[in-house]
Amino acid sequence: MLIQDVKKAAELLREGKIVIFPTETVWGIGADAKNTDACQKIYRVKERPSDNPLIIHLAKVEEISKYGEISDDHLKAVSAFIPGPLTIILKKRDPQLFSCGLETVAIRIPSCPRAQEFLQEFGGAVAAPSANISSQPSITRLSDILETFDSRVDAILSGDDSQLGLESTVIDLSKDQPIYIRPGMVSLEQLQKHLPTISRYQGSQNEAPPSPGMKYRHYAPSARVRLTSSLCNLETATSHKKIGFEPNADQLVDSNESYAQELYSFFIACDREGIEEIWCQAPQPGHLYDALMNRLLKASNH
Ligand code: AMP
Ligand code: MG
Repeated sequence: MLIQDVKKAAELLREGKIVIFPTETVWGIGADAKNTDACQKIYRVKERPSDNPLIIHLAKVEEISKYGEISDDHLKAVSAFIPGPLTIILKKRDPQLFSCGLETVAIRIPSCPRAQEFLQEFGGAVAAPSANISSQPSITRLSDILETFDSRVDAILSGDDSQLGLESTVIDLSKDQPIYIRPGMVSLEQLQKHLPTISRYQGSQNEAPPSPGMKYRHYAPSARVRLTSSLCNLETATSHKKIGFEPNADQLVDSNESYAQELYSFFIACDREGIEEIWCQAPQPGHLYDALMNRLLKASNH
């Protein structure tokens, strides 16, 4: 059911229902983070592995320290990006939060005005992973949300298509040294200006990943995804479509920013058409290169 009223959406959360809502990164599927039954419903609807924890969403920077432990220096540093597409992992402070048995909690404060309205109206922590079926591409358009979820959830709060199009950057601030875990809309270089000691996660194959979600396949359409440096002279016998910067692309993009905005909706449209192969041109060097390559490599890893 598509609803317009944020008051109604917040009321449904309080009743233990789940509500899909827009954010600037991708759409989220939310539940009251202190209601275990409601959070578990998210896992069923998304078909999400039960050990993959949920990011909690808050309305205001001042609320962060209610839910997680953060030093004044770190709070000041991350305030350059928050509200916005940055998720921080902290030692958990509130034992009532649903957290898959972890001692940590991942927190994000979206900047999207519609998400802000909703979170302020609810007034508490909203557990919300990306609104997609697990392993499939995240969803950035209201029309795709309705197609996938209308019959599966209690309510969908109306809103605009996601402005950014890729998931948030995730950093871990629960250890002595900040770690850059998932590339996203905020780059490592941007973070280093405010958190000089932050370093890229460098784990070995034998080690448990710092974020449980890292071990799962993600962002993949049913079509086979192939990466290429150029879209010209591709040799393929199967039905295919192309996304990239060259004029023969089916989905033309003119910057990494527009690539990020279009990628998931293009994947979803290709699947709907029964396309067998999607050729993706490598992104341009510079901002968002890391984030786009991360998603493209995961999507192409069949
Ligand atoms: P999504 O499901 O798309 O919202 O992505 C959330 C990501 O954050 C997943 O990869 C989760 O594994 C990760 N995450 C959430 N909570 C935590 C946590 N407490 N510690 C480490 N990673 C987390
Ligand atoms: Mg996700």
